[in-house]
Amino acid sequence: MIFLKELKILKTHGIQYINDLSAVNLKGPFRGRPELSENAANDDVVELERFCPVRAIASQPIFSLDMGKCVFCRECQFRKPDIIRFTDDYKIASNSREGLVIRAGDKNTPLIDSAKIRKEIVKIFGKALKLRQVSAGGDNSCEMELNACGNVNFDMGRFGIEFHASPRHCDGIVVTGPVSQNMSEALKLTYEAVPSPKIVILAGVDAISGGLFADSPAIDRSYIDRLHVDLYVPGNPIHPLSFINGISHLLNIRLN
Ligand code: SF4
Repeated sequence: MIFLKELKILKTHGIQYINDLSAVNLKGPFRGRPELSENAANDDVVELERFCPVRAIASQPIFSLDMGKCVFCRECQFRKPDIIRFTDDYKIASNSREGLVIRAGDKNTPLIDSAKIRKEIVKIFGKALKLRQVSAGGDNSCEMELNACGNVNFDMGRFGIEFHASPRHCDGIVVTGPVSQNMSEALKLTYEAVPSPKIVILAGVDAISGGLFADSPAIDRSYIDRLHVDLYVPGNPIHPLSFINGISHLLNIRLN
């Protein structure tokens, strides 16, 4: 009887979590996997190549877009909507750097290469994965989205995936930010504190390539560029669904 009032409140709340995180119909201004036309005129592609502020578009050897560099500003689509468009497909994480490069004509191409997944991480972390987040000069946008992964909507914890404070109690790190000089050493210490085997996830374009700061003398990527990366999650910032679906593909976890 004591809890009757609380139970009534819970009933009025209904189910708040998204039941199937692998089949969400995203609405609104979300920018997901790009599609590039196979019939684009070379002059148009070269124009976009010069126009893109982060050099994510290439005209040679084939019209392509590197999601590991793209800041998803969508200016290229506004300029040439006939040859490039961003879809609402949020399953854009890849376990290889080259997997982030979308080529003209690519549609629904799998971005996770199962042959490259380390067998031991699936075996060990498939039922529970504890992660330490390292904000290495980030602007708090990807960090907020990672936080959202554990909220009542996405409820990543129900799959055994959670963030923890101590790297010694974790199975891997999730890096955000372009890795500033000041954070390079902290990143190294955190990575080394995680017991092996451990996984590395780069979340957001800044962590993957430096993003807008790629040419800045204030960043130092010498250490992170030597790490074996298990998962790249593009976005600026990332979307929780991209992050959770990427891990689920990597570790063969069902999301429904
Ligand atoms: S959306 Fe990406 S590819 Fe297009 S202009 Fe912006 S950064 Fe460049």
